[in-house]
Amino acid sequence: MKRQRAFFHTLRLPRFRRLLLPLLLLVVFTATSYTLVERHTSTLPLPGLVMIDPGHGGYDPGVMSNGILEKEVTLAIAKQLQAALEARGIPTAMTRDSDTDYADSGSRGSSSKRQDLDKRLEMTDTQQATMFISLHINNSNLATRGGAEVFYSEQNEGSEQLAAAVQSQLHKVPNMSKRDAKPGKYYLLRKQNIPSLIVECGYLNIPDERARLNTPDYQKQLAVAIANGVDSWLKTQQ
Ligand SMILES: [Zn+2]
Repeated sequence: MKRQRAFFHTLRLPRFRRLLLPLLLLVVFTATSYTLVERHTSTLPLPGLVMIDPGHGGYDPGVMSNGILEKEVTLAIAKQLQAALEARGIPTAMTRDSDTDYADSGSRGSSSKRQDLDKRLEMTDTQQATMFISLHINNSNLATRGGAEVFYSEQNEGSEQLAAAVQSQLHKVPNMSKRDAKPGKYYLLRKQNIPSLIVECGYLNIPDERARLNTPDYQKQLAVAIANGVDSWLKTQQ
């Protein structure tokens, strides 16, 4: 009888009391799930996404030499870099994938350049990128030798180590003149709050490097070296 009373007593429980145990279990399960998700996310390798920025474009050709335009070489390397990173399972986005700029139409000069750069920064924010790599080509009559060199944003934790990892991979490219990674005060670097690099891929004024920079094979070698550097740095972040 006691058991029976208890049984009927259970059935007569107010609705909210009968729901109490399942609700409690649901709360515990949900809290546990969140904890697991959080733990999992924190061990995922950075970045969530690499924003690749092919320097210049549209009205702005960048540096030029012997008919070779910086904006065309940076775009070609950027496309190779995107392929190389994606092949390593690293998500990417590009600030441009065609010959375009982001200045208001009709405006030229320093204000249009600033508009163009600000749009690239805005795209990096909107995409919630966790790494930024801007590609450029050098041209300096003062430079007597070529070589790719990596500049990094000093204010962002990880940038210096990322730059060193990319620079050391670039040293492995055949015929590469070896240069050191260094901090850069460029606008695109100063305005970032994520690990950020500007990779100057070589010198157009150095004839043999200019010739190499204009070939898909060398562009791919540069892209693969940068991707290897990014990949090796990411592995140190896990
Ligand atoms: Zn440039």
